[in-house]
Amino acid sequence: MNNKRNVLVVLSGPSGVGKGTIAKMLVERNKNMSLSISCTTRNPRDGEVDGREYFFINKDEFKTKIDNDGFLEYSEHFENFYGTPKKFVTEKLINSDVLLEIDVNGGLEVKKNFKDAVLIMLAPPSVEEIRNRLIKRSTETIEKINLRMERIDYELSKSSLYDYTVINDDLTAAIERVEEIINFEKNKI
Ligand code: ADP
Ligand code: 5GP
Repeated sequence: MNNKRNVLVVLSGPSGVGKGTIAKMLVERNKNMSLSISCTTRNPRDGEVDGREYFFINKDEFKTKIDNDGFLEYSEHFENFYGTPKKFVTEKLINSDVLLEIDVNGGLEVKKNFKDAVLIMLAPPSVEEIRNRLIKRSTETIEKINLRMERIDYELSKSSLYDYTVINDDLTAAIERVEEIINFEKNKI
């Protein structure tokens, strides 16, 4: 019999630290893990597909969902709204671990409702490395990269409220550390 509990894992950290990369690899490597798909009002980037990276909705649709208590949490970033759909997550959690890739305010809000949620902060080896990664990813203009860089200190300042901090320097080592944490948490009663 498998007594391991399904866990709700929140992965946060500054934009460009590697959350998306790590989340994608975690679900590829772990059959029992589902990635939650957030709603956002931002435009899809090249290659992003509605219902895969995000549910792309407009501001009116987002507001209706807020009014109907449809989000576990939501927040505004860079002039767009992002939210975690409540029903989607609670249904997935019945049969699998669920991974949320959301900002620190969202993570702390989730913890208020789900005391057992496991909050993991991803930190960069250095601030300059974040800039390098965002430039290399080339999905944002320099102005937008600078905006994201301004938020790094804020995100990392909340690390002490998170359960774990993992530095994403070597990608494989970071993924293995996150897996180790999740396995440890799954075995807790
Ligand atoms: P986030 O989702 O946190 O904004 P991404 O996962 O999009 O960040 O990663 C930003 C960029 O950094 C991507 O181009 C990704 O390939 C790269 N990257 C992620 N992790 C590492 C790492 N450990 N070392 C070097 N580059 C990385
Ligand atoms: P991006 O536009 O780069 O995909 O995401 C911008 C920021 O929004 C990232 O910090 C990401 O973690 C955060 N984010 C994505 N989805 C959600 C969500 O559902 N809730 C909250 N609070 N933040 C989110």
